[in-house]
Amino acid sequence: MKILCVNAGSSSLKFALYEMPECEKKADGTFEKIGLMGSFYTITKDEEKIVKQVSLPTHKEAVEILLEELVNLNIVSDINEIEGIGHRIVHGGDKYSASCIVDDKVLNDIKDLSELAPLHNPAHYVAIKCVMDMLPNVKNVVVFDTAYHQTMDEASYLYAVPYEWYEKYKIRKYGFHGTSHKYIANRVSEILDNKNLKIISCHLGNGASITAIKDGKCIDTSMGFTPAAGLVMGSRSGDIDVSFIPYLMNKTGYDINQVASDLNKKSGILGISGVSSDFRDIVNGRADGNEKCALAMEMFARRVIMYISYYNTLLGGADVICFAGGIGEKSVEARELIMEKLYPLGITFNNEKNLIRGEEVEISGSTSKIKCYVVPTNEELMIVKDTYNLIH
Ligand code: AMP
Repeated sequence: MKILCVNAGSSSLKFALYEMPECEKKADGTFEKIGLMGSFYTITKDEEKIVKQVSLPTHKEAVEILLEELVNLNIVSDINEIEGIGHRIVHGGDKYSASCIVDDKVLNDIKDLSELAPLHNPAHYVAIKCVMDMLPNVKNVVVFDTAYHQTMDEASYLYAVPYEWYEKYKIRKYGFHGTSHKYIANRVSEILDNKNLKIISCHLGNGASITAIKDGKCIDTSMGFTPAAGLVMGSRSGDIDVSFIPYLMNKTGYDINQVASDLNKKSGILGISGVSSDFRDIVNGRADGNEKCALAMEMFARRVIMYISYYNTLLGGADVICFAGGIGEKSVEARELIMEKLYPLGITFNNEKNLIRGEEVEISGSTSKIKCYVVPTNEELMIVKDTYNLIH
């Protein structure tokens, strides 16, 4: 059975096609700069990569071209071979704690939740509507980034603000990257053959979050009402004292949209280093003696250990800490910086194993009180599996 995974972002659409239940990837690719100048797409099949410049005014054109190209490139012989489509959805609010098959109610909910995710949910909605129009007989499944975090209790998900802000306006912590954290928790449980683990899952990519997991369930997570909270990220600030915002506005004349935009797009390691939001550039900058890059890395690592230390206590002592995401999987330097700081928790690490990039590996030392693993994440596989399980 062929299952398509669709991840529609604000100006991009990523896809992957899998043969299930074998979990064999047949092709993947990205449509970029949708609605902007210079749009193009990339499709990879059997190591062969096709890149084409094309006009993509909306997500609709991206979906149309994708479905045409899957046939033209012989990835499927007929578009009706696709039996299910799994969509990544950023925000499911507090309504969705699991993946589900799309019907009118689900579609309307995704549209209504655009208020909470204005850049993403409208794009998801358009992409689902397009594929439903073009492939009316195919079942669509939605997999929410927020769903895995719905097991948090009030003490974890509430902010200490007037309670009615939660009741009236749904202001609370939702958490994101849930599909990735769930994948990591499942994988670690498989590796250690134990479903009752206390896990600290660190998804460290351009966006980054840490989740405390007990017996497979989320207890707390570092992202909040939006993905801007928690860790220091590529261009997002992570946790800040919100009271400097009116002060900054008075000093600069910035309006609130400007401040919100700068906190999301000009902050994090980009804001501190002034060099880049890409961690590789920061690592290289530090190696070349750039002090701001070294500072950005140090701040990134300190915020990571802050959450790890808190979650270790909250869990009553973690069994495993996992690293995933582009930085967690590949940055030897970031892991070294973080692991070295964790010695008060009785953590030791294996320098040689830590040199491995992008592979599943235990990086803790033999005497470490908490096992530490690199677990490459695979969100699209989770989406495809959920879709397969719900429709077959
Ligand atoms: P993601 O958002 O999960 O795709 O991760 C992107 C982040 O991973 C970027 O900041 C990249 O610079 C970082 N990254 C990818 N490969 C490496 C690497 N080999 N060393 C350090 N950082 C890396």
